[in-house]
Amino acid sequence: MNFERIKEKLNILADAAKYDVSCSSSGSDRKNKGKGLGDASKMGICHSYTEDGRCVSLLKILLTNHCIFDCAYCVTRKSNDVKRAAFKIQEVVDLTMNFYRRNYIEGLFLSSGIFKSPDYTMERLIAVAKKLREEENFNGYIHLKSIPGASDELMYEAGLYADRLSVNIEVPTVSGLKLLAPDKKHEDFTKPMLKVKNELIRYKNERKIIKSTPKYAPAGQSTQMIIGATGETDKDIMFSAAHYYKKYHMKRVYYSGYVPVAEDNRLPAIGSQVPMLRENRLYQTDWLLRFYGFAVNEIVNDTHPNLDVDVDPKLSWALRNMEHFPVDINKADKRMLARVPGLGMRSVHKIINARKFRKLNWDHLKKIGLALNRAKYFMVCDSRNWERKDLDAEKIKGLILQNSSGKFRNQYSTQLALFN
Ligand code: SF4
Repeated sequence: MNFERIKEKLNILADAAKYDVSCSSSGSDRKNKGKGLGDASKMGICHSYTEDGRCVSLLKILLTNHCIFDCAYCVTRKSNDVKRAAFKIQEVVDLTMNFYRRNYIEGLFLSSGIFKSPDYTMERLIAVAKKLREEENFNGYIHLKSIPGASDELMYEAGLYADRLSVNIEVPTVSGLKLLAPDKKHEDFTKPMLKVKNELIRYKNERKIIKSTPKYAPAGQSTQMIIGATGETDKDIMFSAAHYYKKYHMKRVYYSGYVPVAEDNRLPAIGSQVPMLRENRLYQTDWLLRFYGFAVNEIVNDTHPNLDVDVDPKLSWALRNMEHFPVDINKADKRMLARVPGLGMRSVHKIINARKFRKLNWDHLKKIGLALNRAKYFMVCDSRNWERKDLDAEKIKGLILQNSSGKFRNQYSTQLALFN
């Protein structure tokens, strides 16, 4: 092995892979059965983060940054003048095994530019995973990117070796995709997604009957959207995400703020950057959809197409829907408790358990460990020590922000003086 050349390839191909944020390794239960190396079921994976906050706990590389396509938002596109490199299949296998043995990584995240054709590229990605599993007996985590346009047969085979598969939608709207990635068609993404979804269902059903049925992509499939490249609203993004969750059974949708990498009049200028806060608000919304029973149009809609910057989406929804509050903590159902700003699902379960034995007052709520600084404006309990009285949404928002440590605090301190 020529170490200098491998090091150079690693520099180029790890750097090119950093724009893909869909590298969470949660959700796999692949076990080491006593032989071989690694155990993807040990999910205390020690994630570490690069300067820009992105996860690098896995060996995260491209097989190559050569690409026949020219997607405007991508640093790897064929018209970009960058240094190119390609790993051989055995090189990726050796790197993974060596890094794993040295305890540098817990698994592999392997993506690629498209060289020759989607199927040719996908075959090579699968060959890496197959060698790791069958020749090296590697039981660690493997996340393979699915190449848009790859055939059903290859998508099927990929799921036999990978823990997770993902094909990145990249641009949240079909019109944006046409504008920025003219080589790609919408079906190039949805067809592989559909195949993976159908195989996941089929394997799950077969395992109910035949326990020894092998696993197929046990950590499911995920996708990534680039945010802020085409002027889309948060409503466009979240409706698109909700569609992919529902129709293709996505385990996760990741939101990645667009980083301008080239001058192009179809794209935001170099130097402009999507604020990290926008990504955070989208992830908070995603969480509300998946775990708190919110429908997407409750949070973003035609009258409220973008998420608030100064307050999180749950608080924003509550302030716009004050007719649902205050919630009686001793009577409300789980769905309504989960909608109280400041109450997470753990707090909701604590309330439901505690109220089986007594009517809860503020002291009880504090004793079971609830943080009430924002929740108190949206609930009543068996006590008169605190009442919302005549506080309206604007004043509640001001009081919450004034007592927070965020950067919007000062703005509201001044406004609140008007109420005193
Ligand atoms: S196909 Fe993928 S790697 Fe190639 S230019 Fe488009 S986004 Fe980049």
